[in-house]
Amino acid sequence: MPDFVIPAPTTPSIPVSGGGAFPVRRVYCIGRNYAAHAIEMGHDPDREAPFFFQKNPNNLDSTGEFPYPPHSSDVHHEVELVVALKSGGSNIPLDQALNHVWGYAVSLDMTRRDLQGEAKKQGRPWEIGKAFERSGPVGPLHSVEKVGHQDHGRIELKVNGALKQEGDMNQMIWKVPEMISYLSEYFELQAGDVIMSGTPSGVGAVVRGDVMEASIEGLGNLVVKVV
Ligand code: MN
Repeated sequence: MPDFVIPAPTTPSIPVSGGGAFPVRRVYCIGRNYAAHAIEMGHDPDREAPFFFQKNPNNLDSTGEFPYPPHSSDVHHEVELVVALKSGGSNIPLDQALNHVWGYAVSLDMTRRDLQGEAKKQGRPWEIGKAFERSGPVGPLHSVEKVGHQDHGRIELKVNGALKQEGDMNQMIWKVPEMISYLSEYFELQAGDVIMSGTPSGVGAVVRGDVMEASIEGLGNLVVKVV
């Protein structure tokens, strides 16, 4: 251990269903991974190469509250499957990719859409719209041992009880093994890395007081209040 000159920050983590915690090293997020969402955002859903952005590991949050962030008046929900890796490497072959998955969770890729839109227009990075404090509400992780791999199943989000987003994980343009394999060509993946796998259509704005209920078949619900 180095002799730190300030107190070392704590390791961000995701609680594990049944006990324990999963330490998070990096958070990769894929853009436009469901055709219907690509279309609603004004893009061609044809299978162009995937693209990724990142959130900060400590943006993940499991408190059940999402503080409405500053400098935005258009904050959107995006319900997403989280894929958590127990190991990694470079140039991982497609047929070995799933061996690196520890488990899965329900998450929200909260987005300051107005700031993201401005960044897109100006050709700037997306962090200001995507990687802000507590922008990644996440439910408990479920191990592959217990729930198996998630290649299909309903994914949905309700706000105040009204259905806003719905899809099936089998509609992902880039499947979980493909995302892992592709990312590993550009980055060295390691244990603790997390992938947020994109959102189905129906994204929309929330306001303070709203209650978001995200759910993925087999992984339960994630209830988050906007405060
Ligand atoms: Mn997203």
